[in-house]
Amino acid sequence: MAIMLLSFLPVLERIAEEIEGLAGRGRPADYIPALAAADTGRFGMAVAELDGTVYGVGDWQEPFSTQSVTKVYTLALALAREGDILWEHVGREPSGNPFNSLVQLEYENGIPRNPFINAGALAVTDQLHQLTGDASGALLDFLREESGNPDLDFDRDVAASETDRGDRNAALAHFMASYGNIVNPVPTLLRQYFRQCSIAASCADLALATGFLARHGIRADGSRLLTRSQAKQVNAVMLTCGTYDAAGDFAYRVGLPGKSGVGGGIIAVVPGRCTVCVWSPGLDERGNSVAGVAALDRFTTITGLSVF
Ligand code: GLU
Repeated sequence: MAIMLLSFLPVLERIAEEIEGLAGRGRPADYIPALAAADTGRFGMAVAELDGTVYGVGDWQEPFSTQSVTKVYTLALALAREGDILWEHVGREPSGNPFNSLVQLEYENGIPRNPFINAGALAVTDQLHQLTGDASGALLDFLREESGNPDLDFDRDVAASETDRGDRNAALAHFMASYGNIVNPVPTLLRQYFRQCSIAASCADLALATGFLARHGIRADGSRLLTRSQAKQVNAVMLTCGTYDAAGDFAYRVGLPGKSGVGGGIIAVVPGRCTVCVWSPGLDERGNSVAGVAALDRFTTITGLSVF
């Protein structure tokens, strides 16, 4: 294990050095006021091995706003409980539209294209809330258990800031409700969704929490969350839909299942080997971290680890 540990750390150090000039590029998400002040110069990257060994560089232990990265875990938790019925509420095709777009929903009768655009994530959170009675609580418990970090928590300022600017997400939820694709009252669903997005966690926390996808569905304690086939499904949807309207370019450059968030975090999975989480708040025009994508690009190029 010590040898494995030594084999990745120099790679991370080399990447941190190489992409130094990119941290600071891009702009933080400003449509959520609480995120607008993020320092784009921050950069952290962590790798977690299958056995939970984790190490990193830069600001890898600094909590940041996870935002849409959490969509991966709510999808996994809902799929684990509900199985294929979940796919009656949400599709699994790339949308080709911005993450918060309304247009596709109307001509596809209120069934969102995939679980990683906002409409799809709202539909998944709605299902998870129906199944657990507390979707965001179930998510927080899961992340704490998988990361081993009991201090991981919601950021109430971020949740409040999103609620203030939540008109578009509210519109998406009401629109789906009009098609019968939302079972909870919309205000309840929105509260759950904004709490989910507000969770603050570090690269180390998220790399560990995503380990079940590298272990083909097995949680940190050895119990099974997803079947091997379901873990493959989640990884496949991440690869095709996980990085906004740039999933093709991400697959081309990085070649791994990945999920990004507007807080500047990206999680990536090397099935059977490890997980990688990177964070830098400067976003490109598609909403992906500029330094984050570049760092993952370098990671797969240097190590040769990709799904292709
Ligand atoms: N909470 C954000 C929203 O709903 C998440 C966006 C994201 O990270 O993609 O707009």
